[in-house]
Amino acid sequence: MKRLQETKVKRISSDQNTVIDLDDVHIGEGYFTVIAGPCALESEELAITTAKAVEHSGAKVFRCSLFKPRSSPYTYQGYGIDGVKMLKLLHSETNLMLETEILSTDHLDALAGEADILRIGSRNMDNYELLKAVGKINKPVILKRNMSATLEEFLLAAEYILSVGNNKVILCERGIRTFENYTRNTLDILAVPALKELTHLPVIVDPSHSTGRSSLVPAASKAALAAGADGLMIEVHPDPINSFSDGQQSIDIPTFDKLMKDLSEMTNLLGKKSFSPVLS
Ligand code: PEP
Ligand code: MN
Repeated sequence: MKRLQETKVKRISSDQNTVIDLDDVHIGEGYFTVIAGPCALESEELAITTAKAVEHSGAKVFRCSLFKPRSSPYTYQGYGIDGVKMLKLLHSETNLMLETEILSTDHLDALAGEADILRIGSRNMDNYELLKAVGKINKPVILKRNMSATLEEFLLAAEYILSVGNNKVILCERGIRTFENYTRNTLDILAVPALKELTHLPVIVDPSHSTGRSSLVPAASKAALAAGADGLMIEVHPDPINSFSDGQQSIDIPTFDKLMKDLSEMTNLLGKKSFSPVLS
């Protein structure tokens, strides 16, 4: 990792870590922050129902994707830019921070105007113009690891955002491609402590795209917390079977609620702050 020696991602001392503050939501060392929501927004009703449910279980950030990069152009591509009005509504109906994926610089003003956190998906980890564009705004950016990127390539992609001024980068491990095909990807769990060793940036895990199977999401989530992740991004849908996308890996609301209770017990044991589910 010699080439990372002089970069901005490299930690300067062992205790120097970035914590990103969004009002009373904190993402980084010492905290455990859960981002949850459907794979993609499908309707106003789904958005509000899901957001209120995940907020009640203790999520702090709502995943509200308006654009879906899908392998097939014939599958659901997302609500589109008109959905920005749903983000406004979600802000008025909940206290959740909102995060959404950006696919094109054409949507930067509209999405950054309403969302609190922008996401660069794994397929765009190497889209340098997009990385530089989000590097020029003053909003946190979740950068997902490309499914075939080494940690060094991942960190160099983060440098494209940091080097033009935006230091609020959150790294997201979302599984890598291996020969194994029972799971959609292979969760590279050691990427979490390795990235924390190499950088000062917050590291979160996406247990949904890592596994591709809802039955494995709770185990992957707990493994991520145990490995030192600063948070999770989980796909949650009130009716996964009828979800427009990624229903097979989306957990339903009771499963999410139970998982949050288990994670809450684990965070207490680990001495992490700010994980405060509204226990029912
Ligand atoms: C997503 O989070 O919506 C997604 C498509 O995941 P990834 O970019 O990791 O494939
Ligand atoms: Mn998905």
